Amino acid sequence: MATLTAPAGHPAAGSSIEVFAYLVRNAGPTILVDTGMGDGNAFLDDLYRANRTSLDTALAGAGATRADIDIVVNSHLHFDHCGNNRLFSGTPVYIQSREYEVARTPHYTVESWIAPEGVLVREIDGDREIARGITLLFAPGHTPGHQSLAIETPSGLAIIGAQVAYTAAEFEAGGDPAEAHDGIADNYYASIRRLKSLRPVRAP
Ligand SMILES: [Zn+2]
Repeated sequence: MATLTAPAGHPAAGSSIEVFAYLVRNAGPTILVDTGMGDGNAFLDDLYRANRTSLDTALAGAGATRADIDIVVNSHLHFDHCGNNRLFSGTPVYIQSREYEVARTPHYTVESWIAPEGVLVREIDGDREIARGITLLFAPGHTPGHQSLAIETPSGLAIIGAQVAYTAAEFEAGGDPAEAHDGIADNYYASIRRLKSLRPVRAP
């Protein structure tokens, strides 16, 4: 979806940050997990030297269009995960209540990107099955209200961890001390442990 460069003061200053979104098909409703970074914020574009792929282009690469999306999930509400919610007017957007609450505090995100007019926010508290065999899993750590998605497939459970860990290797290892800074460490390790305990055949 985009490549950002972490600015000075960021824990990963100077390195590239890849922004992902995930498309779930053939499991019932078509679900988009995260909507990438929004447009029109010159400050963030400049600060993060954003190099983005449009959501439409990314979807086309997967053989899909916006009209195919039945459900949107925001793993969390940092600006690079909810920035194109506005494109899904009339489509339910699932967000953890805890995340929605913290996202309204100053400097957390671009608040206006979360729920512009027409966006149907569905607040969730904890785990919730949102369609047959498709369950949101409360997985705090990276943020206080982060969530992941579990999908029952014919070959076993698939989990879209989103940012429960930055990389698959980090998830496999059970976490990375570099990510487990003060204030998030307990939840971060516990969420990875919990998702791993579900024994997914594919994760994150
Ligand atoms: Zn984030």
